Amino acid sequence: MTGKPKYIFVTGGVLSSLGKGLASASIGALLECRGLSVTLLKLDPYINVDPGTMNPFQHGEVFVTDDGTETDLDLGHYERFVNVRLTAENNFTSGKIYYSVIQKERRGDYLGGTVQVIPHITDEIKQSILQASRTADVVIVEIGGTIGDIESLPFLEAIRQFRFDVGKENVLYIHLTFVPYIPTAGEVKTKPTQHSVKELRSIGIQPDILLCRTARFLSREIKAKIALFCNVSQDAVITAKDVDCIYEVPLVYNQEKLDDKILEILNIWTGAPRLEQWQELLERINQATEPVRIAVVGKYTDLTESYKSLNEALFHAGVHNGARVELIFIDSSTLTADDVAAVLEPADGILVPGGFGSRGVEGKILAAQYARENQVPYFGICLGMQVAVVEFARNVAGLCHAHSSEFDENTESPVIYLMREWFDEKTQSLQKRDVNSEKGATMRLGAYPCRLPIPDSVAFGAYQTDMISERHRHRYEFNNEFMKVFEEKGLVFSGLSPRGDLVEIIELRDHPWFLGCQFHPEFKSRPMTSHPLFRDFIRASLENRRKLRETA
Ligand code: GLN
Repeated sequence: MTGKPKYIFVTGGVLSSLGKGLASASIGALLECRGLSVTLLKLDPYINVDPGTMNPFQHGEVFVTDDGTETDLDLGHYERFVNVRLTAENNFTSGKIYYSVIQKERRGDYLGGTVQVIPHITDEIKQSILQASRTADVVIVEIGGTIGDIESLPFLEAIRQFRFDVGKENVLYIHLTFVPYIPTAGEVKTKPTQHSVKELRSIGIQPDILLCRTARFLSREIKAKIALFCNVSQDAVITAKDVDCIYEVPLVYNQEKLDDKILEILNIWTGAPRLEQWQELLERINQATEPVRIAVVGKYTDLTESYKSLNEALFHAGVHNGARVELIFIDSSTLTADDVAAVLEPADGILVPGGFGSRGVEGKILAAQYARENQVPYFGICLGMQVAVVEFARNVAGLCHAHSSEFDENTESPVIYLMREWFDEKTQSLQKRDVNSEKGATMRLGAYPCRLPIPDSVAFGAYQTDMISERHRHRYEFNNEFMKVFEEKGLVFSGLSPRGDLVEIIELRDHPWFLGCQFHPEFKSRPMTSHPLFRDFIRASLENRRKLRETA
């Protein structure tokens, strides 16, 4: 398709957590199967300039893009479902919009005019959408929050105006709503949907398509009723039925003919959708049945949202290996030297994910020690690598007071520390930082190249290449002063920055699979192409399981 992009705006009604992000990502996937190029944007109504400083307990994972933007976790769904590489242009918040407008006002750009929500904030929103849509055939814009929230009003007003600006034939509004089943009445109820659409229409937006989240398929009668009350055609009322696995969603939408309807309204002609890769994926998911148990030793236990990409990456790796990954979340702050063996004994593999803050660090160190001593596959991500280094320093290299200076500023062996000066490959410049540097500004964020210099290492075996790129989000680094002594004791430095001044991957020499990486590989795992490190970690955990079963 050439010419002007088409826009799909996705709003949500009735209640939150209906899966608007997944719905948007699945629509993107379906349109991509039709041969269209797609990009996605998330507009978040909160005031934080980005989610980087937000607590994962409250807001879920912070997803990091190649360009080092800390974004909403929905961008993770987008990248997993659609072949896109997103950037800072793909996620903006009220905070970011206001910040930009206020900066312009201070510079005098508004020439003494009164700066107002309409038109200045709404213009800024529209400009940001246009800016992100230069190359795609279809731009899918998800509006965070729920219809009725005060915060999202400027965004809704902006997308209402958008249709006037770019032409009616180029804009489509999809509203995701909820149709609950009430057991005592024995039927599904359409009233919440009616109210939500009424609210949307009161601000001037008439949805073209209703995606109805529900536990059962909607009958023709119910669809007719919703269509009548909400002023949409019957074939634009789509059942978005609950599914067991998120990767089924594109196929379920296709069965409901959602893609046909979108193309019809936007007046786009394409061939039939090529859904083979999604169908094959589902077959592989259904065949992946051999159980493998992975202990995730972290801070945010039970909350799958806090480790969204991590959980997905483990799932992808399981599917690749024909395995069903069972996660045991372990709150590291509860682990003690006395119970660590008993708690971790059922695990076929142990993973310590990234994290900030000192709570539970000693428990994570115990988990790394258990994995090392008992030959259990270990995967340490970011903080997970750092605790493995601390453990090695204390218990193998004999530096019994070793620590990361993040947790003990005065440690006599700061094996992980704040590097004062380092060469930044991204900006090709010397970076300086110290403990007083502003929070956030000092993080190493986004994609960095990494060299894998050792051909017979676990890392090289996984990637099968000597140069990779992975995404980072951390402040602290391995302290090179300790490199030589650790090497002598059996630690392998299998991933380094191109100039060799930053340690990116460590491994243990005499262990079936023990690897720590300073980056976050989970951000780059895809359902159809599992990330090499996750893939091999799960394979090693499966082998460990089989071996244990044989000897039992
Ligand atoms: N807190 C550690 C650091 O800042 C690790 C961060 C992480 O795991 N993402 O270096």
